[in-house]
Amino acid sequence: MITVCALCLKVPRGEAESTRKKLLELGLLDIGVRIRRDGDIVLLPVLSSEAATLGYEIAEEEMDSREVLETDYRNVADVPDGVRERLPTSFDIIGDVAIIRLEDDLAEHADRVGEALLRTFPRLRTVALDQGVKGELRVRDLQVVAGDPSTETVHLEHGVRLAVDPAKEYFNPRLANERMRVASLVKGGEKVVDMFAGVGPFSIMIAKHASPAVVYAMDLNRDAVEHLKENIRLNKVTTVVPLEGDAVELLSGIVGADRIIMNLPHSARSFFADALTKLNMGGTIHLYVICERDEISSIAVGLSAEARGMCVRIGMDRIEELKTYSPTMSVFALDIRLLDWC
Ligand code: SAM
Repeated sequence: MITVCALCLKVPRGEAESTRKKLLELGLLDIGVRIRRDGDIVLLPVLSSEAATLGYEIAEEEMDSREVLETDYRNVADVPDGVRERLPTSFDIIGDVAIIRLEDDLAEHADRVGEALLRTFPRLRTVALDQGVKGELRVRDLQVVAGDPSTETVHLEHGVRLAVDPAKEYFNPRLANERMRVASLVKGGEKVVDMFAGVGPFSIMIAKHASPAVVYAMDLNRDAVEHLKENIRLNKVTTVVPLEGDAVELLSGIVGADRIIMNLPHSARSFFADALTKLNMGGTIHLYVICERDEISSIAVGLSAEARGMCVRIGMDRIEELKTYSPTMSVFALDIRLLDWC
């Protein structure tokens, strides 16, 4: 057993069970840590200080982790040694769902890999094999290989709770810091448009951590928009307006935006001109692009030329390589500011 320093809610014994259920429902119970009794008080481990809103004292305590000492799941996987050393060292976790990628010839071992992950990380409920992101809606083809068959979960990032089903809608937990960075740039009273919002991670992060006048959150995927609406309720944000449909059509109904987020890295560039016509002078577009690493400069030059063709001048405030996509390709974030007419 490992001892960890965990945030706990101190609840009288008689109220412990109902509070535990409430925390579970809110996605705030830290199921990776054991509940402990201390006289008439029960210490319920929680994931965030938000749990204090239930009205009990909250404090850091030494607690027993449920996690076993073995932290490399590969050592407990029931697979031949030649396979073990080819298993991935990292995987994505969305809420309590782990998403693994395996080379094609290792797929037959996926259920044993899943079991090993569940044993090593007790806070996981489900393990799913990722067979690639497909189609216009960018949905992952997931096959559950161990644990609970449902992939619907609640993911927590920077104090934002996101209900999401990664088998039905796109969500990338690796962009949490980028979303927080964008939220930190938003000034009070801004009108923001999130053209490809998914379940709303950018929109809700902005509404929660900044004070925009409004965030229009658009998506074509009906399931994503349903979760987006749920996430607006879960996070009690009032400035996010969910809009289901094609972003270009929806954009035609918007008059002037201070900031437009375009997170559809394979094809957002083709919507750039539509977005630019809606941007207020001095406003910013956050454009995400997947391309060959040595192509990004010429893409930036091409965007400037496209803007000049619309009689405006843009400035590249920032071009940042966010993550590797393939041996030669990466995802880039471009902060593009509308400077003036030309
Ligand atoms: N911004 C979200 C995030 O960070 O998790 C989702 C990004 S995902 C890469 C792109 C999203 O764009 C998907 O949810 C997809 O359904 C949506 N999408 C694709 N084409 C669209 C269109 N023409 N109009 C509106 N949404 C679209």
